[in-house]
Amino acid sequence: MAKADTQIITLQCEQCKNRNYTTTKNRKAHSGRLELRKYCKFCRTHTVHREVR
Ligand SMILES: [Zn+2]
Repeated sequence: MAKADTQIITLQCEQCKNRNYTTTKNRKAHSGRLELRKYCKFCRTHTVHREVR
């Protein structure tokens, strides 16, 4: 079996600290922590979501 290069991560809203999203990332493409602007339904706006483990 091929070794998986993708990793399941959780994205946490930086404002309210709710964990709104899970996604996968390619460990070779992203070595550091992932940060994405996504819609948070608790903040009701787009906020920065950061990878947590
Ligand atoms: Zn939020």
